[in-house]
Amino acid sequence: MPVSNGREFLMIPGPTTVPDRVLRAMHRPAIDIYAGPLVDITDRCLDDLRLMFRTEHRPYIYISNGHGAWEAALTNTLSKGDKVLVLESGRFATNWGLLGEFIGLDVEVLPGDWHQAVDPNAVEARLRQDSGHEIKAVLVAQIDTASSVCNDIPSIGSAIASAGHPALFMVDAVASLATTPFEMDAWNVDVAVSGSQKGLMTPPGLGLVAAGPRAKAAAKTAGLKTQYWDWGFRDGEMHYEKYCGTPPEHLLFGLREALDMILEEGLDNVLQRHARLAEAARAAIKVWSDGGAIEFGIHDTSSRSNAVTVALMDNPDRLIDFCRDEYGVTIGGCIGGWQGKGWRLGHMGHINAPMLLGALGVIESALIALDIPIGESGCAAAARSLAVS
Ligand SMILES: *Cc1c(COP(=O)(O)O)cnc(C)c1O
Repeated sequence: MPVSNGREFLMIPGPTTVPDRVLRAMHRPAIDIYAGPLVDITDRCLDDLRLMFRTEHRPYIYISNGHGAWEAALTNTLSKGDKVLVLESGRFATNWGLLGEFIGLDVEVLPGDWHQAVDPNAVEARLRQDSGHEIKAVLVAQIDTASSVCNDIPSIGSAIASAGHPALFMVDAVASLATTPFEMDAWNVDVAVSGSQKGLMTPPGLGLVAAGPRAKAAAKTAGLKTQYWDWGFRDGEMHYEKYCGTPPEHLLFGLREALDMILEEGLDNVLQRHARLAEAARAAIKVWSDGGAIEFGIHDTSSRSNAVTVALMDNPDRLIDFCRDEYGVTIGGCIGGWQGKGWRLGHMGHINAPMLLGALGVIESALIALDIPIGESGCAAAARSLAVS
């Protein structure tokens, strides 16, 4: 007889658990879109998104998922036939590249190994070869949620600078915003993209893009611009122009509340919480891997992300199904090249110690029930990891 009851735990790497406070903030009637409180909510969301991206520059809020934010980044800055260099370390930057190919960009993938982070030296070497500066943009995901790698964005930025290359530096921070340190301005990122449904704890539906001055300059001549994504139109004074139409009112009520929660906790504390909980998750998986059936997706310990962890194993679906059906905990399957080869434990956004320890306990029970060899108790290791005296 299953022991799942009550609230389900959603432990996938997005969408993440929406806090009750955010749900309650959304439960209200629609309000005027031309004047009054909604205008103030927009202004305050834009201000606080600057804090999340760590930028002085202008964030844009689209009614879209992350794919929309990707498209906004490319169409505002590039023209048909422009070459972009995509840094592979999983699936997300390469999918961003495929979207670019669809709209007419010339996409080159710098091949990478899913087990490790992008090598900044390889980026520098490739850019040095491009003496004619044909490459107009470099695209990378900070955290690739398919592999669970966390790329070293400042080092990649330095590699671009050392090569003396003028390409725009575009970073997918969808899974890293409010989960992992990200410094748009300090790291010379020209365009950063994100979404509402990961660390920002808001339902899916808001695509977020922050554009620095070099990106805004490129927008003056970009040939791929369309009105919906265009930054210029959204820079207009009227409130509805900021959304190119009706604002996504209820998602904005939700985002406003989520930003309040993050700021009340303190962004640094939020990042620390993610780091400690991720460390506990890794401590458990490390012990389970001693049984020989499970291994980390990412080999180098310093490249494992604080938002999601991939564990590779044979026949992962039996574990995923068992956790969901028996215990009411949903963990993610692997995707892309690792589909059917492991599972993904999301640990970002609205998550705390009992949620994580509960999920790890359930996974350990399922591993035991399914006779999958594990070392000693991963849960004990996670508990020790979180123990502070
Ligand atoms: C979730 C995610 C996205 C966005 O995906 P959508 O389904 O389009 O919202 C993009 N990049 C990364 C790294 C992600 O984790």
